[in-house]
Amino acid sequence: MVAARPRQERRIIAALFRFSVEELSRTASANQGLCKSTGLARLNGSTEQPLNGMDPILHYTSQRLPAIIDWIGNLVRIESPTHDKAAVDRAVEFVADHLAPVATVKLHRQTEFGRHLRAEFKLPGRAKSRQVLGLGHLDTVWSIGTLARMPFKRSKGRLWGPGVFDMKSGVAFFVFAAEALRELDIPCKSKFVLQLNSDEEVGSPTSRRFTDREAQRSSAVLVAEPAWGLDGRAKTARKGGGTFTLRVKGQPAHAGLDFAAGASAVLELSRQLLKVSEWTNIEKGVTVNPGVVRGGTASNVVPEEAWAEVDVRVPRPSDATRLERKFLGLKPQDRRTSLTVEGGLRRPPLVRSPGVGRLYRLARKLAAELSVELGEAHVGGGSDGNFTGALGIPTLDGLGGVGEGAHALTESILIGRIADRTALLAKLIAAC
Ligand SMILES: [Zn+2]
Repeated sequence: MVAARPRQERRIIAALFRFSVEELSRTASANQGLCKSTGLARLNGSTEQPLNGMDPILHYTSQRLPAIIDWIGNLVRIESPTHDKAAVDRAVEFVADHLAPVATVKLHRQTEFGRHLRAEFKLPGRAKSRQVLGLGHLDTVWSIGTLARMPFKRSKGRLWGPGVFDMKSGVAFFVFAAEALRELDIPCKSKFVLQLNSDEEVGSPTSRRFTDREAQRSSAVLVAEPAWGLDGRAKTARKGGGTFTLRVKGQPAHAGLDFAAGASAVLELSRQLLKVSEWTNIEKGVTVNPGVVRGGTASNVVPEEAWAEVDVRVPRPSDATRLERKFLGLKPQDRRTSLTVEGGLRRPPLVRSPGVGRLYRLARKLAAELSVELGEAHVGGGSDGNFTGALGIPTLDGLGGVGEGAHALTESILIGRIADRTALLAKLIAAC
């Protein structure tokens, strides 16, 4: 925690911020000339730092960069694979301990996964009836021991390590964004609730109800999942997705002695997979991918059993309904075999609704105040933002670290984008 700043310092900084707001409303060039005439602000208690036209929040987060990097490092060093409850709970406790002095923290108990964290921040401004939700997760896809071959490190202008991009840096940005608002005494329109889930990487089976509940109380949802591309685009649409499991039971027989008596489960499954693969429509963004196939026992046996797992991605809710109906309506072509289909669409698509568009345009304007051009992207992968978007709550995703290599050995974020991403989150929290 940083020590509380003397009141006077806070007033100076707050005055600078108010000046910048007035300046903004007068000038069309929002990202130039802010605070130019106001001279110096004292930050970090010692040296005088000229703002030189820099946005005050960005100035603050830039000053705090070493602390943010340290904090990300500490969190990355607490390995937290989804299926290791004790490990994820350690990461949850690290964040909860840090937030306890500045937020009301509640941990939703879980038996199978780590606890889900809810933190309600005490931020400046009047009593609030509105709520803005920050959404993220503390679990990763990396198993315990990954740090030995992929240690947290700083090199080539990046931070590296398991989960640094997806999405421990995003968690840090939320934490330090709230700190900036508090320390600079910037009034916020809504109360800020941060929810960090522990089962996101497996589709959020236990956290979804908490996410839904908090989203329904919120006027906007900010998701600090990784940004898209090395220019740090926000995600304004995500495909929905799910998995279907196809199981075929055939008639076993000796491949040499009694071939005709057999009905091959492997062949029947192959026919079904060819059929469902035809439902892929690249132009419309619908993909059907039989990703896992198993079947048979020996080459001289007509196989009795076979099954496959099929990944499905859709950009629109109507595609989801249509595909679900088609999967559940599959019939075996060889009547001597039987076919069962299980599963469905786990995550609804995040659609770029008018509300999402408005939230993106606000973020774009605020980013311009930081001299950053915030682009947008439509992506295939899902997040908890898919759930909040499906409820009709304006949701802006991809506000976390700028980097690459999610779920890959090259997982890393750009150090040069930590300060502005944190500042952008702070501005969004204040403005929503
Ligand atoms: Zn993620």
